Amino acid sequence: MSTPKVGFVSLGCPKALTDSELILTQLSAEGYATSKTFEGADLVIVNTCGFIDDAVKESLDTIGEALAANGKVIVTGCLGARAGHTGDNLVREMHPSVLAVTGPHATQEVMDAVHSHLPKPHDPFTDLVPNPLAGSSRFPGIKLTPRHYAYLKISEGCNHRCTFCIIPSMRGDLVSRPIGDVLKEARALFEGGVKELLVISQDTSAYGVDVKYRTGFFDGRPVKTRMLELVQSLSELAEPYGAWVRLHYVYPYPSVDDVIPLMAAGKVLPYLDVPFQHSHPDVLRRMKRPASGEKNLERIRRWREGCREIVIRSTFIAGFPGETESEFQDLLDFMREAEIDRAGCFAYSPVEGAAANELTGMVPAEVREERRARFMAVAEEVSARKLLRRVGATMQVLVDSAPALGRKGATGRSYADAPEIDGTVKLLAPEKLSKRLAVGDFTKARVVATEGHDLVAVPV
Ligand code: SF4
Repeated sequence: MSTPKVGFVSLGCPKALTDSELILTQLSAEGYATSKTFEGADLVIVNTCGFIDDAVKESLDTIGEALAANGKVIVTGCLGARAGHTGDNLVREMHPSVLAVTGPHATQEVMDAVHSHLPKPHDPFTDLVPNPLAGSSRFPGIKLTPRHYAYLKISEGCNHRCTFCIIPSMRGDLVSRPIGDVLKEARALFEGGVKELLVISQDTSAYGVDVKYRTGFFDGRPVKTRMLELVQSLSELAEPYGAWVRLHYVYPYPSVDDVIPLMAAGKVLPYLDVPFQHSHPDVLRRMKRPASGEKNLERIRRWREGCREIVIRSTFIAGFPGETESEFQDLLDFMREAEIDRAGCFAYSPVEGAAANELTGMVPAEVREERRARFMAVAEEVSARKLLRRVGATMQVLVDSAPALGRKGATGRSYADAPEIDGTVKLLAPEKLSKRLAVGDFTKARVVATEGHDLVAVPV
């Protein structure tokens, strides 16, 4: 019998990507092959995103394409957890012929559906998993990122109820992964060649809240399930490999202050991805944001006092229901004063099922869009000014792409740039003719210019 083949489409955020990696790893472990085309597969799995309307449309369209081309489709991911207009499952309403639908983080349910429509090919004792790691609930198997960086998901779900967000209704309340498992996975990733570990979750600073910061074990020693201990341990694991650890989705709680000395000491990248969303306390209250009572400007100032190099990335929403012009001005002032290094901004768009839809004072669409554009003009001015300060500096750069061994140039990132979302460092031909660059190498480079969001540098 020929090896059964599964087609796989992974849509959505890094959290969905890690779910895809788990499913693909399990498929591979059981001897299934993957197909690059819908037509060449015996069955197709679509991992969906249900966050904003565009993502919902993309997911539904992809399911439609897979059904048309293949006919046997299993749907998983955030969209799979959403109800449609009739109260029934939205995916089933739109595509009644799908074989099965699951929510996010449901490897076993997806595998059960695969088994019932495409039986397992061979002896389950035959272990085809690359780099297995006994004892971990999530060993590094198939990764969908390049070999030199990887996402490390530390928890699922979220205890907050931001009024514009439906993630908790799709992914549930916060469930932290055991710290021992997280650290085992990190160690195996470093051993496997990962040079940059990106810590992700819905709320990284809340790690361990659900288990009351319980003490877990790693290598026989006790470690608390808490952000500070996690970051400390990750930095120890990364050190022998000279690898980077980068923190995403951190809220400005007082507990984050404890991590700043680790950044100043070079143990973890001085980079914080903090989704502020707004600055005005009334808007934050209407959004029901975590840490909305914190004095964010003061906190950022203290972070920067503790670690001069710190880079802050954030996302914002312009035109949230009820936002007045003066509240929006407050946001622009915040952006200038906080000097957020990297900022993204969405014009508010109602998400079906979100509590914010019930708020009064919907801002007209053209005003939302106009505010987004005004915000981005300020954000770009701040970012460009901050980038210019780097000209003349020598920075450590992680190489992402290096055609012809980088002899004519390459592309990389500094500590200030997370993959996919921030800028890059365009590397010119190295100063020394003999210098070679390869993907995953670190190189020192002298910044000679800026280009939009990017730096231009010469490897030295
Ligand atoms: S913190 Fe708010 S925006 Fe983030 S996942 Fe939780 S509810 Fe959604």
